[in-house]
Amino acid sequence: MSVFKCEKCGDTKEGRCKPKKCSACGETGVMVKEETKTSGCGCGCSCKSK
Ligand SMILES: [Zn+2]
Repeated sequence: MSVFKCEKCGDTKEGRCKPKKCSACGETGVMVKEETKTSGCGCGCSCKSK
């Protein structure tokens, strides 16, 4: 599972495939993959913001 982030509004969305458009602002071509693994504790949980 990857996380994609909208470069326009900053909304994030999880998914296997890159979304064509942002579900929040509706802009197309602004979704970029965001690396999630090893950015935090590395255990794969959602506590990466620490
Ligand atoms: Zn957006």
